[in-house]
Amino acid sequence: MARVEVRGISKLFGEVRAVDNVDLETVEGEFLVLLGPSGCGKTTLLRMIAGIEEPTAGDILIEEQVVTNLPPRTRNIAMVFQSYALYPHMTVYRNIAFPLRTRGVDKATIKEKVEWAAGMFGIERLLDRKPRQLSGGERQRVALARAMVREPSVFLLDEPLSNLDAILRASAREELRQFQKRVGVTTIYVTHDQVEAMGLGDRIVVMRKGKIRQVGTPMEIYHWPADTFVATFVGSPPMNLLGVGDILTGFRPETFLPAELMTGVGDVVTYPFEVTWTEYLGAERLVYGNVGETSHARHVVSRLPGSVTLAIDTGKTYSFAVPRRDLRFFDRESGLRTDRGPA
Ligand code: ATP
Repeated sequence: MARVEVRGISKLFGEVRAVDNVDLETVEGEFLVLLGPSGCGKTTLLRMIAGIEEPTAGDILIEEQVVTNLPPRTRNIAMVFQSYALYPHMTVYRNIAFPLRTRGVDKATIKEKVEWAAGMFGIERLLDRKPRQLSGGERQRVALARAMVREPSVFLLDEPLSNLDAILRASAREELRQFQKRVGVTTIYVTHDQVEAMGLGDRIVVMRKGKIRQVGTPMEIYHWPADTFVATFVGSPPMNLLGVGDILTGFRPETFLPAELMTGVGDVVTYPFEVTWTEYLGAERLVYGNVGETSHARHVVSRLPGSVTLAIDTGKTYSFAVPRRDLRFFDRESGLRTDRGPA
């Protein structure tokens, strides 16, 4: 287990500030997720931590040692990429054993470690196969096992689940999470998928345009977004934002419900909600529409649990409400969250 610290790290590619003066510190043994839209600099940051990209400025520390100018192999880090890059001509056993063989580890120890890692990922029965005889999920497990035999003190993962279909992805996610808790190795995981980030992360780092916008637990990120970018990037559908003067009022779709259901929740704010579209999704219903004066009506979404069977028709206006404690306020100009509600 180890701590990774990033101090004032920047990376410029010509004019492009891929990573812009980032400070970040992991907690030992945590699962930290770097989340952000394509091109926000997540991969570049991860590659700098791994030592395969050189920072333009700043320092990287692992276990309190500055490693900024040390080559990757001295960092005791294992990185698994989007493409697993298994050696096609080698069996699963030899693929997993490869990093140990190159280090000159003796045969008996290699056998022991390969079997340990294979057991960890439940791939013992695949050891004699070649990568082409494996499913996508199995290949992924082999890649993870190969990274783990080195017993790295830090594990870096760059969208390792992105090649899997939805069902496999969900089970691979659970597996990865359980495995990480079992081994307790500090893990930094890159994704642009907010569902994945919420499900996997002890903490999430939300990035945009090379900068960190917020670091927090999934719950903090979801309920107390630092700014309108985080509020709308995390959550699907995103947080509703209504403009009043220089303050934006935000609320999550699941907090915006028919007023008649709002008994006993305390103080609520009520809006006339003109419904323009509904989507029945089984477990829930999404209701789209507008609130506010016709001249500057704002588009908002309500997410109703499937258990709410009230008839809601397109073209009609209903009274919808949000508990006051679920309102969030943002400064319109900076986008930053503020405690100040609209005047
Ligand atoms: P994605 O999710 O699409 O992988 P990302 O958040 O990981 O995106 P990066 O790959 O870190 O983003 O890229 C950040 C920025 O740096 C992008 O604008 C990208 O075009 C640029 N960039 C990355 N690598 C290079 C490079 N080798 N040369 C020039 N520009 C680069």
